[in-house]
Amino acid sequence: MAVYLCHEQPDLYEHAATVVAVRPGALALDRSAFHPGGGGQVSDTGSIETPAGVVAVATIEIERAPDGDRWWHVLAADDAGDGAEPAAPGEAVVVRVDAGHRRRVAALHTMSHVLNAFVFDEFAGSLVTGAQINGDGTGRMDFDLSAIDNDRLRALEAPVNDVIGRALEVRAVYVSADEAAATPGLVRSLSVAPPPTPDGRLRLIDVDGLDRQACGGTHLSNTAESPPFRITKIENKGKRNRRIRFTSN
Ligand SMILES: [Zn+2]
Repeated sequence: MAVYLCHEQPDLYEHAATVVAVRPGALALDRSAFHPGGGGQVSDTGSIETPAGVVAVATIEIERAPDGDRWWHVLAADDAGDGAEPAAPGEAVVVRVDAGHRRRVAALHTMSHVLNAFVFDEFAGSLVTGAQINGDGTGRMDFDLSAIDNDRLRALEAPVNDVIGRALEVRAVYVSADEAAATPGLVRSLSVAPPPTPDGRLRLIDVDGLDRQACGGTHLSNTAESPPFRITKIENKGKRNRRIRFTSN
């Protein structure tokens, strides 16, 4: 499953699946609309309805295997601890992705692209050195920036909120790796490599007229869907790094 089902069908929150493997506290399914996380973004959460009842999914772990990756749906502690397996291989289940969690993460992640675009423009090509988007509507981005006044970073909150007000369309587009390599600024992160597709194409997220960058995460389809964006803290992390903490709660 090198191309994510949630990329192909972003509005799919419930679907049937078959259990392909079981281990204590986790189920592997033949298909899943869960986003597995990555690049600092937490995975989707949700539930699986099995013949024995509904179990909560805390996170996804992908086990690489030559005959196809296994997507382990790791159960929340309450559902994983009693020793009894909730399902057996071959059984049919219903997968449900928590839409509220997906939306919170997608909103914050989309606005982190917008923030990144303003930092990149304002501070001459500054790269991202780390990022984290949490399920509780908070996140952070680290930038390779030295010797600048933190008030200039704080001031970027206003233009980010302007972009929410301007209701810009957000699209996923695919380009060849060669095309991507020939376009400066597409891969802006020093630490986050987006997953390539089986045919070598790269997934780009295009915030209309503002930003275009390689990314495998979940995003809104329009910036107007985001709650207001707030920068909560700016920290110096070593000589060359600034950490911007933000929220859309
Ligand atoms: Zn992204």
